[in-house]
Amino acid sequence: MSYRLSVRDGFAAAHRLVGSGGKCEALHGHNFRVTLRVVGQNLDEAGMLVDFGRLKGVLKEIIGQLDHSDLNSHPAFTKDSPSSENIARFIWKLAEERLSVEGVEVESVTVSESETASATYEPGRGR
Ligand SMILES: [Zn+2]
Repeated sequence: MSYRLSVRDGFAAAHRLVGSGGKCEALHGHNFRVTLRVVGQNLDEAGMLVDFGRLKGVLKEIIGQLDHSDLNSHPAFTKDSPSSENIARFIWKLAEERLSVEGVEVESVTVSESETASATYEPGRGR
């Protein structure tokens, strides 16, 4: 038995995917959409797993580090390419650091580059 919550937000940023072998090697931008999902078992006195406002605040703070930036020059993406997959993992890691104290697990983070393309990072159990 568990409860799952999700919140969505977005940010605008530029990237180029070196070595991708296609047009994505050239600098271009996206209005990225991000979905953060958490899971947990225990509700508080108000019947909530964790306040949606808290989830939204955490997500907004993290993506604020990426908004209107050139992702290739961000410290998190000097070694790892700023692909949607790696962006999702970066957001997951920071969200987990901030939300594990709230008694919930960050189940997954999905980063969408467009209406029709998205990548989900989901570390799974036993990480
Ligand atoms: Zn792209």
